[in-house]
Amino acid sequence: MQLNTETLIIGAGLSGLSAAQTLVRSGRSVLVVDKGRGVGGRLATRRIGDATLDHGAQFFTVRGDMFRAHIDQALAAGVVDVWCNGFSGDDGYPRYYCPNGMTALAKWMAEDLRASGVTIATGERATAIEETVDGWHLPFESETALRATNVISTAPVPQTLDLIDAGEVSLDAERRDALDRISYKPTMALLVTLEAPSALDAPGGEQRTEDDLFTFISDNHLKGVSATPALTFHVNGQVSTDRWDDNPAIVIADLLHEAQPWIGDAPIVDVQLKTWKYAGPYTPHPERCLVARTSPGNLIIAGDAFGGPKVEGAFNSGVAAAQAIAGTSAP
Ligand SMILES: Cc1cc2nc3c(=O)[nH]c(=O)nc-3n(C[C@H](O)[C@H](O)[C@H](O)COP(=O)(O)OP(=O)(O)OC[C@H]3O[C@@H](n4cnc5c(N)ncnc54)[C@H](O)[C@@H]3O)c2cc1C
Repeated sequence: MQLNTETLIIGAGLSGLSAAQTLVRSGRSVLVVDKGRGVGGRLATRRIGDATLDHGAQFFTVRGDMFRAHIDQALAAGVVDVWCNGFSGDDGYPRYYCPNGMTALAKWMAEDLRASGVTIATGERATAIEETVDGWHLPFESETALRATNVISTAPVPQTLDLIDAGEVSLDAERRDALDRISYKPTMALLVTLEAPSALDAPGGEQRTEDDLFTFISDNHLKGVSATPALTFHVNGQVSTDRWDDNPAIVIADLLHEAQPWIGDAPIVDVQLKTWKYAGPYTPHPERCLVARTSPGNLIIAGDAFGGPKVEGAFNSGVAAAQAIAGTSAP
């Protein structure tokens, strides 16, 4: 099957969805594809039995007016709420979360797009970005292929470069260098469900540093996401790298041992390990997106590696990518 669209957005994470909303609101037509089963990307929530656990981003902050306006709407819709104003005392800055799990923010945006007639195709993995005389051609692992005048890729940069290389698309040396320099931190997430309350105190989050084995520990029940006690432990980048290829059963056993102080006396119901190869950029690009090509159509690289390595940065990057397209071609 061969479909055509004005702008194809690779990725239905926060940056892809904010790019789509910005384009649709300026009268453009878009199609969003994601290889995942659902939308959200690193805004990720998993069910294990009766428990619900956020295993990607745990919370977010709001600094700029553009993201604030978006989150004010999400607050009004009940999609987002304030978790706390700091994890070791009140510093006056809200940490936001989604009571139905962090994926809810992406689902809410996807619902709005679908209500505007936008197709968001999940379970569709692009395998290359190829150049044509009048735009871009994208084959997918399924039988689908797409032609688009413009492409915005919000996949983590190494994955976007794989698509560009698979399609033998050439970029000028400066842009290629800038993209090659962006590297990512991997993160392992240990997910533990419990029969009784954990040893954490309210508000149920402990933010630590990259010098600690666990950089963030979250009690999804105290946070208000899970009906039953359930902990998420994020492992620092160095240990995640060192243990990446180890036998997962041994990694789980070692991490569980270290996690004991937060588990306390609560009996364990289930344990899972989730790995994020591209959890966040070590070396973000200074601009909010990178216009890789303007001919034969725009090819724009966006995502949290551009707008800043956080939820707000991803949102801003998507908006910037959409604005780059809206500024260069007529609707
Ligand atoms: C463990 C962890 C903890 C974090 N903690 C925080 C936090 O506490 N606060 C905070 O602000 N941020 C945090 N972040 C970062 C935050 O989650 C990200 O900055 C943000 O969600 C990135 O959004 P994005 O749209 O740029 O990328 P993503 O959400 O990664 O979206 C990219 C999408 O592209 C899709 N894709 C990739 N390749 C293809 C392909 N070939 N074809 C089709 N689709 C494809 C992927 O499936 C994915 O859905 C955390 C992230 C992780 C992983």
